[in-house]
Amino acid sequence: LARLRARLVKSNNALGKGLLALLASDKIDDDVWDEIEETLLLADLGTEPTLELVDALKERVKVEGSRNPEQVKAMLREELIKLVDPSIDRSLAVMRHADRPAVVLVVGVNGVGKTTTVGKLARVLVAEDKDVILGAADTFRAAAAEQLATWGSRVGVPTVKSDVDGADPASVAFEAVKAGIEQEVDVVMVDTAGRLQNKVGLMDELGKVKRVIEKQATVDEVLLVLDATTGQNGLNQAKVFAEVVNITGIVLTKLDGTAKGGIVVAIQRSLGVPVKLVGLGEGADDLAPFETEDFVDALLN
Ligand code: GDP
Repeated sequence: LARLRARLVKSNNALGKGLLALLASDKIDDDVWDEIEETLLLADLGTEPTLELVDALKERVKVEGSRNPEQVKAMLREELIKLVDPSIDRSLAVMRHADRPAVVLVVGVNGVGKTTTVGKLARVLVAEDKDVILGAADTFRAAAAEQLATWGSRVGVPTVKSDVDGADPASVAFEAVKAGIEQEVDVVMVDTAGRLQNKVGLMDELGKVKRVIEKQATVDEVLLVLDATTGQNGLNQAKVFAEVVNITGIVLTKLDGTAKGGIVVAIQRSLGVPVKLVGLGEGADDLAPFETEDFVDALLN
């Protein structure tokens, strides 16, 4: 798996240059603190975490009496790591149970990178020697099931889909899990539709998909895919999904295309759900587990 830090640094995601320049000022006065605050806000860290962080830094600069930019940067790094929280368990529940596969439901609004994420994650699991089956429960767009099946053949795993346009997503999910049980695979991963325009319909559909799966197996992981470039909008989407299903992890995609990585903190704060994976590009290898220190280092690079 690609190391998160190297990949993010390469994609020039960092806020560090701006911050370092600020910290290198002769004197860290109120104007400089304001600019630091602004830089963190622009990175989508969120108001509350930004204020907390700047207050903590100010306090430390006062108590520890340090004005040395390198030392202040080190403090900033420590405080950011605290905010992102290295103690959170970010592991994926993808271990087969004694008598049935682990089931992963992947949800999110259309266009965020859901199908791509399912494909990339399938590849990771296959590399770990796991048997995987994909379920194409996004039956609304005809192309969606095809796109998933293409990913499936690319990474060498079968895809259960319906040949009928507009088939019942829950029934496709059911068939995928059934096939997974019969074929004794390790993981069944179900891709779903995400038409947020129709909130009630979405709730009904997702709720039903989950209930129907649970007739045969537990849903071990519900991954919500969010597009990092959409900032606060992504947060609002997340809240809608959280009302329907019990989200167990976030996949933050398109981090390669944004300097707004601070959204990780905002998301975790407002949902109480860890970011478990990040998408760093469109390719099959462009998925990485979230690692706090690497992430913060990439931000500050
Ligand atoms: P879905 O509608 O949520 O299933 O979204 P798709 O998986 O079809 O992805 C939508 C677009 O985003 C496609 O062009 C993907 O190649 C692209 N995409 C997905 N993940 C990433 C990522 O991590 N980085 C970048 N740059 N593009 C991505």
